[in-house]
Amino acid sequence: MRPIVRIAAAVGVLVALSACGSDAPELGAELATVSVEMASLPDGTPPASAEVVMPPAPDGAPAQAGAVPGGAVSGAAPAPAAAEPRSPDGYPLHPFLPAGGRARVVVLDPGHGGPEVGSAGAGVAEKDINLSIARRLRALLEADGFTVVLVRDCDCRATVPPGYEPPANWQAARWDLQARLDIANLADGDVYLSIHNNGSNTPSESGTEVWYDGRRPFAAYNLALAQVVLEEQIRAIRSWGYPTINRGLKEDTYFRVRDGRAFPIFVLGPPRSGVATTRAARMPAALGESLFLSNVNEAPFLARESMQDAIAAGYYRALVRYFALIDNGDLALPPEGLAAETPNYYDTQGPPPGSQR
Ligand SMILES: [Zn+2]
Repeated sequence: MRPIVRIAAAVGVLVALSACGSDAPELGAELATVSVEMASLPDGTPPASAEVVMPPAPDGAPAQAGAVPGGAVSGAAPAPAAAEPRSPDGYPLHPFLPAGGRARVVVLDPGHGGPEVGSAGAGVAEKDINLSIARRLRALLEADGFTVVLVRDCDCRATVPPGYEPPANWQAARWDLQARLDIANLADGDVYLSIHNNGSNTPSESGTEVWYDGRRPFAAYNLALAQVVLEEQIRAIRSWGYPTINRGLKEDTYFRVRDGRAFPIFVLGPPRSGVATTRAARMPAALGESLFLSNVNEAPFLARESMQDAIAAGYYRALVRYFALIDNGDLALPPEGLAAETPNYYDTQGPPPGSQR
């Protein structure tokens, strides 16, 4: 009932550490083959999602693939579930519209934390800058009526939600990332924003970029979110007085290629199954890399509170614009929900069936 499978790489760890420094040399050390014990499904999960292990809900209700607990973390009134249409896999078909008058829930993911430092420069660590920006952004959003959830609010890893247990042999970094996504799903988040700053082995690298996943069922939302985040980050940093380079939007399908397989960024991509089972965020997401801490010009700027305020304000304006796109009907809702989800890795010899690439 609990088959042992072999995986070629601790892929989640690779992605976790590389979100702000895709050239980081220590990543190669993570390529050791490890065993992962796949937990058996707790109930009769349908074949389409049979490889995705859903832990029991915190209230003790049976686990159900695609179920959205809703309202468990935020203080907002729960949405009227009975009135909300759902896809065959249980995913709300209109998950990005405020239901029942509730405030929109913005999930902020300050990248890294605790032993995961991220990049560093000018005497500051990325994990601390990311958290500072997230807290400033939270203040702006809460003042505007949003419900805000930080997946970590200390120099720490994300805390495992009640009722969730780590699979056997998962490394701490992988479990940290999974916990962030579980927290977001439990909060019934409308959007997931991962806040990072960049690092590179090439000191001259600089500028601003934003990552998104183009293969989720709500990929159009991811792209729209990433676009406004990029525009507002560029605008905010330049208005602060630094003419940052626009490095553009980055689609993450080929974020990491190992052993002929391509992997996206863990917190952005679909659930992984077959080699290592994960639960993906069920909401549109983007990952911002505002500036490079490995750049001698940009690191001191990031250390300044005025720059952190500017970046937070840029994120705030981007989120307001993103929700306006939804409210104005400028984004098409995916009618099939997450039922259209495809595995988030594939052989780089060719795209999987149904892929646009
Ligand atoms: Zn980072």
